Amino acid sequence: MNHLTLSTDLITSDILPVISQSKVARQTYLDKRVTKSQRGTKRTRSQRARERLQTKEHLVGLARELHEGELADKLDRCHSRLSVLTCGRHIARIIPNFTCEFRLCPDCSRRRSRKLQNKYLPMMSAFMLHNRVTPVHLVLTQTHRKETRKQSAARIRSSFTKLTRRSFWKDNFKGGTWSLEFTKDKNGLHHTHLHIVGFRRKFFDIHLLRGEWLAVTGDSHVLHLKPILDLAVGLQEVVKYVSKPLDIRRFGAADLKEFLGLKNMRMFGTFGEFRDFCKGFDLSDEAAASDLETLARDLVEGCACPHCDNPLFDLRLSKGELPQFYEQMESSPPGKVGTSWN
Ligand SMILES: [Zn+2]
Ligand SMILES: [Zn+2]
Repeated sequence: MNHLTLSTDLITSDILPVISQSKVARQTYLDKRVTKSQRGTKRTRSQRARERLQTKEHLVGLARELHEGELADKLDRCHSRLSVLTCGRHIARIIPNFTCEFRLCPDCSRRRSRKLQNKYLPMMSAFMLHNRVTPVHLVLTQTHRKETRKQSAARIRSSFTKLTRRSFWKDNFKGGTWSLEFTKDKNGLHHTHLHIVGFRRKFFDIHLLRGEWLAVTGDSHVLHLKPILDLAVGLQEVVKYVSKPLDIRRFGAADLKEFLGLKNMRMFGTFGEFRDFCKGFDLSDEAAASDLETLARDLVEGCACPHCDNPLFDLRLSKGELPQFYEQMESSPPGKVGTSWN
């Protein structure tokens, strides 16, 4: 059971150590177009918390529809009661009563993507320093066919494997990470994209890469490439698809059923020399300094808030109260501590 699993709702934007790669040179061959999903809109924490609640309720409803009672109960219980360590204006840590670990659960997938970031960011930084490579965000797309989500994912991954075996790719990339993004259009066709943080050895002509992608897919040359100026932000952009594979609120029972059949599909991985580098990387040194979950774990009631030095206190909230609490934090003027939750 996963009682009292630590979930640091931290602070991500404030405390998370941002490792900047500001020295990435501008170059002329880059394709700056981004896919619609990459743009995203900035919502407040309270809005996001509320959306997670709605997503979860929707999932619970679908699970009940499919007579997946156990799944529905687990989702319902997950993060239903929270112990929040807060100064009244900032949240240092949130400990949920229970985590369901279901892949589509918005609360559990957030934790998972944060873990991925904490794990890979130090390795990526070290790899870049070691190899003098620059990171780019590459999005590979494929033509739409009548196929299942599983087939669509297998097709794009197999094309990517072929791509990485070609000499053009090896000359220009030194490995990286990949993650899958799924969408579905109005006609029910699956669109699968592969998001790659690639470590580029040198500049190259994007048209040549398009030609290579067409050569391995047979019918698609569509890809997008943009430089990653801030590795932490770039990685976050890519792992968000792992944490939020689709717009679940538009999911029907049939979609959930299909997803339940995908249980073991990998959504994230490493490739090339970066993969080998990760295997040999000793997390204990470099990650220790940046592991916020460790830092947050040591905080207890009475400790100083990492943001403002005010004392932290423990607040018990039900899941429905969390968005309200965020709202109060968002609306309280700087310096003023909200007291109504005391
Ligand atoms: Zn969950
Ligand atoms: Zn504070």
